[in-house]
Amino acid sequence: MGNSRRIFQGILASAVLFWGCRSAQPPEPQQQNSESEGAEETATSSQTAAVTAPTLAARQLENGVFSFEIDGTRIYQITDAEMNYESRYLFSDVPEEVMKQHNVPSDQVLLTWTHPLIKVGGKNVMLDVGGGCGGEGVRGFMGKADHSTTRVDLLQDNLKAIGLTADDIDAIVVTHAHTDHINGLLNENEEMLFPNATIYISKVEWDFWNDLDPETIEDPLRRKAITGLKEGALRHFAKIESQVVYIDEGDRQELFPGVFTEPAYGHTAGQIMVSVGSGAQKMYYFSDVFLHPVFVSIPDISQGFDADPERNNALKRPFLERFERENAILWGQNFPPKTVIGYVVPQDDAWLWTPFDLSVD
Ligand SMILES: [Zn+2]
Repeated sequence: MGNSRRIFQGILASAVLFWGCRSAQPPEPQQQNSESEGAEETATSSQTAAVTAPTLAARQLENGVFSFEIDGTRIYQITDAEMNYESRYLFSDVPEEVMKQHNVPSDQVLLTWTHPLIKVGGKNVMLDVGGGCGGEGVRGFMGKADHSTTRVDLLQDNLKAIGLTADDIDAIVVTHAHTDHINGLLNENEEMLFPNATIYISKVEWDFWNDLDPETIEDPLRRKAITGLKEGALRHFAKIESQVVYIDEGDRQELFPGVFTEPAYGHTAGQIMVSVGSGAQKMYYFSDVFLHPVFVSIPDISQGFDADPERNNALKRPFLERFERENAILWGQNFPPKTVIGYVVPQDDAWLWTPFDLSVD
């Protein structure tokens, strides 16, 4: 597939990620596909042994919400949604035999929208906020998937489970402006849900959506998709602008003690990655550089939803080499349930995603 066509497909597929609460569509009649039944994503459960596995310190459950410490900083795992995606949107560039080899279902996959809440310097800091009621729009778009296990708009309840409300959130780092990262900022009436939060977003991301001129795009379908993307981003930008602090372009910046951002441009024009910990222990929230554990094993193959797949692909191997070298704990925001937090170990000429067992004795 030509590069330009792949970029177009990525952009077109990305359009769904901006759909808000009011754009929900009734799902198409569900198709039962026996391929998904009993299929397990064994890409995450290989027997490859880690030589030096990182450990999650001070792990605990608080009313069903898992937490642990990185370098003395407590982090909670806040889930906003479990969404059934049609596999074709994610894996269109993955050959069928590779899908089979990694036991990735060819019809649909259940992914989460799961976000860190970081307690740092007396502040409650969220890394993205899920899709909120905008999850309904994504469920509608993924109309051919069986949504019996889809659950959306869970973030506020999960905050309450650990004794917090949206009012208690002091800062939100928006890694990029896709629905499952930014739409949770607003309620169904498009009113701000986090009145006391400073919202950090990269200036590159902000400018990209503001400066984009869809009218210069000749292809009518692509023009329509880009127009939708821009409309969604700017609709949210308008509501949050008074609370925004821009993260300027730069290599690595410390937003809070031990909490750093750095560019991870490719999936969107200005996506950033966030890391926690400056000592022996480190955690990376790599946002959508990897959308599914299988892309850790096949880092040279493009994933759906990337605005610039070549640019995103160029990030993957250097990041994975660094994650391995630093023995880092990793957070896959979209990874399937029970695989969100893990680490990588080398396998063949790539890596294997190895999730932590989050059960607490
Ligand atoms: Zn995204």
